[in-house]
Amino acid sequence: MPPLSAPSYHEQIGAPSARDGDGFDTLIVGAGFAGSVIAERLAGDGGERVLVVERRPHVGGNAYDRYDDAGLLVHPYGPHIFHTNSADVFEHLSRFTRWRPYQHRVLASVDGRLLPIPINLDTVNTLYGLKLSALEMEAFLASVAERVDPVRTSEDVVVTRVGRELYEKFFRGYTRKQWGLDPSELDASVTARVPTRSNRDDRYFTDTFQAMPLHGYTRLFENMLRHPRISVMLNTDYRDVLRLVPWKRLVYTGPIDAFFDHRHGKLPYRSLDFEHQTLDQERFQAVGTVNFPNDYAYTRVTEFKHLTGQQHRQTSIIYEHPRADGDPYYPVPRAENHTLFRRYESDAEQLCDVVFVGRLASYRYYNMDQVVAQALVTARRLLAQGRP
Ligand SMILES: Cc1cc2nc3c(=O)[nH]c(=O)nc-3n(C[C@H](O)[C@H](O)[C@H](O)COP(=O)(O)OP(=O)(O)OC[C@H]3O[C@@H](n4cnc5c(N)ncnc54)[C@H](O)[C@@H]3O)c2cc1C
Repeated sequence: MPPLSAPSYHEQIGAPSARDGDGFDTLIVGAGFAGSVIAERLAGDGGERVLVVERRPHVGGNAYDRYDDAGLLVHPYGPHIFHTNSADVFEHLSRFTRWRPYQHRVLASVDGRLLPIPINLDTVNTLYGLKLSALEMEAFLASVAERVDPVRTSEDVVVTRVGRELYEKFFRGYTRKQWGLDPSELDASVTARVPTRSNRDDRYFTDTFQAMPLHGYTRLFENMLRHPRISVMLNTDYRDVLRLVPWKRLVYTGPIDAFFDHRHGKLPYRSLDFEHQTLDQERFQAVGTVNFPNDYAYTRVTEFKHLTGQQHRQTSIIYEHPRADGDPYYPVPRAENHTLFRRYESDAEQLCDVVFVGRLASYRYYNMDQVVAQALVTARRLLAQGRP
């Protein structure tokens, strides 16, 4: 909590104050899930006047989708698959979209074969030419698993579950490409997300709710932001309007280090180059995504039609090439980065009229549903405080 005597950010920067009938109660930076969910709650439930300022030429943040020149629905910032165990999150978003049920499946190209990932019974049986039962699979994994105590890194997580050989074939190369770091240098949290199964379940996720917005993410965002008390400014950096537009409270969903002009140093983010291709064929690959842990510079290829269910004589695919610089996509989970983040977080706690929310402001590897959940909690807290 900021000290009671702390000047508001508003005062610090000399921003004009909003009065009744003039300006905005809340200025929101970013029209991704974090910003849009909060905008709708504050305007819809709190009766607030809200301005959403977005640097990009569209709403939706990284979840934005659009129709390409061939008329295929694509995700310009990489494939986004919605999945959650939270009924609260799913019900909330269902107010703005209908859904198309979708279970994502991924194959990994290993030793010249396409094998299910997460590793399951079929992965091991096909790779080694075995006919293990589920029970025997558990015994097999126990026999190859290494003992590491304590489990600290991503490498530790995987070798204690599936042993060194499967780790080398499926995880090591992929992680090195994705993060530019060896799994032994990354927090356990990165690979802790990937389960191992002794049955034949080949779904990538097992969450209770798995579905894609029926008419795409952008339509969902448009429905969420279509409210008489919400204004949206695209192609605008918030710094360009901060001292021009009257406001009372700021909700910031961009990178936290950028907000403070990188005063403690830059937080590392991993970026990606996306290579889109439209192909003159109906189908390109058997499942939504194929991973390439050991070959090529790209990590994976996704065919959007699996995700969207679109019928079309052509198809669109996307290759992801990880890189160190570029748009900030993934906070890099390492202990020293978290320590640096904590310094920014404690600066943020000193500002009584600024709220930091979302993946980049929290410097956490959040999925869409986690960001929506965080935004809903934040909105409830702000609503409980009353209009600023
Ligand atoms: C390649 C990739 C694939 C992913 N796949 C999945 C998936 O399959 N399933 C899943 O659940 N999650 C996935 N995610 C995560 C998902 O994208 C995030 O959880 C979600 O988009 C975060 O929403 P957000 O609002 O916090 O941030 P963002 O979507 O990044 O929105 C923040 C917005 O703030 C804007 N902004 C920043 N600075 C400024 C400024 N100075 N002025 C104005 N505007 C500014 C940005 O332009 C951006 O639009 C994926 C992420 C990536 C990168």
